[in-house]
Amino acid sequence: MTQFDYDLFVIGGGSGGVRSARLAAAMGKKVAIAEEYRFGGTCVIRGCVPKKLFVYASQFHEHFEDAAGFGWTVGESRFDWHALVAAKDKEIDRLEGLYRKGLEGAGAEILHTRAELTGPHSVRLVATGKEVTAERIVIAVGGAPNPHASLPGHELCISSNEAFHLDKLPRSILIAGGGYIAVEFANIFHGLGVETTLIYRGTEILSRFDQDIRRGLHEAMEAKGIRILCQDHIQKVENSPAGSLAVETMKNGVLVVETVMLALGRDPNTTGLGLEAAGVEVNERGAVVVDRYSRTNVPSIFALGDVTDRVQLTPVAIHEAMCFIETEYKNNPTSPDHDLIATAVFSQPEVGTVGLSEEQAAKKFDEIEVYRAQFRPMKATLSGRAERMIMKLIVNAADRKVVGAHILGHDAGEMAQLLGITLKAGCTKDDFDRTMAVHPTAAEELVTMYNPTYRVRNGERV
Ligand SMILES: Cc1cc2nc3c(=O)[nH]c(=O)nc-3n(C[C@H](O)[C@H](O)[C@H](O)COP(=O)(O)OP(=O)(O)OC[C@H]3O[C@@H](n4cnc5c(N)ncnc54)[C@H](O)[C@@H]3O)c2cc1C
Repeated sequence: MTQFDYDLFVIGGGSGGVRSARLAAAMGKKVAIAEEYRFGGTCVIRGCVPKKLFVYASQFHEHFEDAAGFGWTVGESRFDWHALVAAKDKEIDRLEGLYRKGLEGAGAEILHTRAELTGPHSVRLVATGKEVTAERIVIAVGGAPNPHASLPGHELCISSNEAFHLDKLPRSILIAGGGYIAVEFANIFHGLGVETTLIYRGTEILSRFDQDIRRGLHEAMEAKGIRILCQDHIQKVENSPAGSLAVETMKNGVLVVETVMLALGRDPNTTGLGLEAAGVEVNERGAVVVDRYSRTNVPSIFALGDVTDRVQLTPVAIHEAMCFIETEYKNNPTSPDHDLIATAVFSQPEVGTVGLSEEQAAKKFDEIEVYRAQFRPMKATLSGRAERMIMKLIVNAADRKVVGAHILGHDAGEMAQLLGITLKAGCTKDDFDRTMAVHPTAAEELVTMYNPTYRVRNGERV
């Protein structure tokens, strides 16, 4: 008989927490999982899933326009924000139900409460004040939007959390940030008919992505009518007459908009979590410090997902949870593999990417080959839409391995998933060349770029 109430106590019912609790419970472990808001966490409730549903909604006006080129006459169309929010909420409710069902089915005890650590093996359930003990504790509390508290007027702004439940669609919005969340929401709001401006401190949106893709997306977004202000930032937000907000910027004067959204990064949810009481170490950003097996400095406490500030993506949190189970409960030490993570930005056009950007590869290898294609996708010929796809393969000249693949255009995210397998498998450019094309597709370009567009040798383009 164990001396603890539970074998495993999980704090946080998001992507990582639910997976660890469900797998451990299915193995017959006595598991409890505490969630202070809604099961499913950021991804399901106010992240990936509702965001993608909004992306779909925002694309229809272009579909209606494109239809004319294919002989269709589309009647009058109108968009109803409340209908979209209600449909989205219904789907999120369904998914939340599935998460809870999965936990219950596996035999985990579901606790609707905030939980805080009180020691290396103990947790206080805030709803009841009860203290429970566990042999192991997993911290999977995720993160929250950085409120940018030093910005005068930050309390007048919304974050991505509120963007999913606005009472009404604003006429105009200013979005601060240049990361994927800022970029995706700029496209969503613009697509739904909102006058949209993106303001970003850096020189180009989507830092760390391939420069060609960043520039290509920037141009495509501007061509659609999204205003992008780089190398600028908000200095103050104030209420202005007629219910608008007056936003003082560093370089572009005062902008008057209905809504300001801050998408300036996410902070680990560790404030008030009792980490000091348990002796758990955090870094300067408040993220829980872990080793390669997601172990904190306290042997009974583990942390995974966004709270560890490694790679903030749902599949990564889930993977880290599965590695934790392998290591702790299956006697099979497995550390999460964070190399070559394929990822997408659901901008319009979409970005799909895996591996090194040209800039990163040029620094890492003596010589790289860059294969680059820019073309008009077939659908755009009849629709008349002035859009271009970009595809890029980065190859290490020494061993011919494809070390980076970058796509801007329709279905780029879907393609990135499959490219991820090829890079993980260590495929060379010759493997790509040996692969028969699927015709007519945009993806066939990936296997038909036979000659390098240029090379970069010792950092110099040749
Ligand atoms: C707008 C947006 C879009 C995104 N889009 C994508 C995408 O397209 N693809 C992708 O891969 N990732 C995306 N992400 C990131 C993804 O949502 C996160 O990486 C993922 O949810 C992390 O999972 P997690 O388990 O670490 O934390 P979370 O999913 O955040 O779960 C943490 C849970 O813990 C709960 N909690 C916090 N503190 C306590 C406490 N003390 N007691 C009890 N419960 C607590 C929270 O309420 C939350 O439910 C997006 C994020 C956002 C914000």
